Amino acid sequence: MAKQPIITVKNLVKNYGDFAAVKGISFEVYEGEIFGLLGPNGAGKTTTLEVIETLREKTSGEITVDGFNIETDKNSIKQRIGVQLQAAGYYPNLNLSELIDLFSGLYGIDKTPMEMLEKVALTDKAKAKYKDLSGGQKQRFSIATTLINNPRIIFLDEPTTGLDPQARRNLWDLIREIRDQGTTVVITTHYMDEAEVLCDRVAFVDGGHIIGIDTPDHFIDQLVASGFERKKEVKLANLEDVFINLTGKEWREG
Ligand code: ATP
Repeated sequence: MAKQPIITVKNLVKNYGDFAAVKGISFEVYEGEIFGLLGPNGAGKTTTLEVIETLREKTSGEITVDGFNIETDKNSIKQRIGVQLQAAGYYPNLNLSELIDLFSGLYGIDKTPMEMLEKVALTDKAKAKYKDLSGGQKQRFSIATTLINNPRIIFLDEPTTGLDPQARRNLWDLIREIRDQGTTVVITTHYMDEAEVLCDRVAFVDGGHIIGIDTPDHFIDQLVASGFERKKEVKLANLEDVFINLTGKEWREG
């Protein structure tokens, strides 16, 4: 994989009044990778992402996204990224097809709703309203909306929270496909199994600092090399494997 940085963050600081949420962090995201920001609640992950997404002002530091400086080129950055909206961003009375038309119009981009819904396996829900979708369908739809402007990078904040095991695995496949088609993906998650199988590299954020950044494999190998051992012998399968084995791999929500 080419190790060309597409996002560069240097000494980012973000204060909310007297409270320092992000305390001088630096990292790079490489073009074409799935990059995970991991860490406890309140660590500063969402704040960091929102500054990079141009949704929040930084207190200090330097950020470059796809070659554009966040101070001088906010609009160029906005055109090159896709950000998942929170549920409240979707007009409740419009169906999926109408919502895609609306977003395409806002971006000034000519995309047919079916072309976008096809990417996330939702063509059969074109006439359904967002509020009537299942959790997994809502997540897939919101990922489709991030792709409308052919972004270079998409940002996904906890995209699999609350999903069943099939929906979660299918969403991982979708995120990998998006990466394989050339879009860089930045993701936050609290599920370490997810980060381990999905992310090419991860950064651990704690108390507003980055305390480690590497591939999941390297992190695990280093921990093992340091003498760490799990207390309990690990079984060859876990309860999630049982779940998938009993209920199948296919999407469950029609
Ligand atoms: P989580 O895993 O819970 O989503 P996070 O790592 O994304 O957490 P942030 O949402 O970035 O963390 O929050 C970092 C810190 O900044 C928290 O202590 C939070 O209370 C504080 N914070 C976030 N937004 C604001 C705000 N608008 N005003 C004041 N403080 C805020």
